[in-house]
Amino acid sequence: MTPKPVGGKLVTMKDLDNMLNYKARPAVQTQTAWQAPIMWEGMWEALDYDRIHADNHTSVALTVFAVGRYLEAYLETFLVSAEQHFMIGLPVMYYVFTERPEDVPIIDLAPHRNLRVIRVKRHSRWQDISMMRMKTISELIDSEIKYLFSHVFCFDVDQRFVGRFGSEALGDSVALLHAHYYTLPKTRFSYDRNNKSKACMETGDYYYHAAIFGGSCGSVKAIADACLAGIVEDKQNGVEALWHDESHLNKYFFIHKPSKLLSPEYCWDRNLNRKDIFVTRLIWAPKDYDRLRVQEPTAADNGTAPL
Ligand code: UDP
Ligand code: MN
Repeated sequence: MTPKPVGGKLVTMKDLDNMLNYKARPAVQTQTAWQAPIMWEGMWEALDYDRIHADNHTSVALTVFAVGRYLEAYLETFLVSAEQHFMIGLPVMYYVFTERPEDVPIIDLAPHRNLRVIRVKRHSRWQDISMMRMKTISELIDSEIKYLFSHVFCFDVDQRFVGRFGSEALGDSVALLHAHYYTLPKTRFSYDRNNKSKACMETGDYYYHAAIFGGSCGSVKAIADACLAGIVEDKQNGVEALWHDESHLNKYFFIHKPSKLLSPEYCWDRNLNRKDIFVTRLIWAPKDYDRLRVQEPTAADNGTAPL
């Protein structure tokens, strides 16, 4: 990559991460033991990131699933708010996966931003809807995204952008610190502890939230493939990890350390009240599981349904 001048210095995208101000937020951890940055407001100059990424033709694919009642409940708010805050200035493609393409709302999109709707099968169990996203994401990266975009971000739909979620969040493999766990000791992390599951782990580094993960196309494909392999093997063995795809994601990121971590400022639960959150960028939407999650009782409530 050609170095680009910023403030008289020559820098690359990697240099920008090296120029992060790790001392900007003394009350929180800003770097992991393996030297990955943990992105907290105040550590960077947003416009430097935007300029370097624009100059280097960075482009971003965002995947989001809206299956069953989640479509009406969350999708429009998610997309409209993303147009206000997500990777503004960069080309973005929203890939919306649903079993009802005809019901996807029409959203005004800025130039160089597009939306594609892809029909997916509706799994009868909500756990399978959530877990099998990994299969769909992997297949689409291979068939399309890797040819068109430099980066992929995968999002839950039950959330809303309220502040900048910009190019500083891009990296080779990006994980999110879970808002409910980042202040807790490791012993209280909600890892899967059942040694029959591929997601089982005794200890780890952090508790990551599966509502957002991303990175380069190759890295996200590797994440999705590994999680899917664990999910499928668990099904063959008649087990299901405690927090489904999130448990497998935590196992993956323990073995393959993410190159960048997003602080919980990037996905905050407004029911929590903490002084170390300076900005909120994305917030959890109210959960209404009883009404929204598919309720069909199946013989497979033990998680061993065929896919
Ligand atoms: N999802 C969906 N329909 C469902 C269940 C899940 O579209 O019936 C998708 C949706 O994108 C959702 C994600 O899977 O955000 C993860 O599920 P959920 O948000 O319910 O999990 P939680 O945030 O509670 O872990
Ligand atoms: Mn969610």
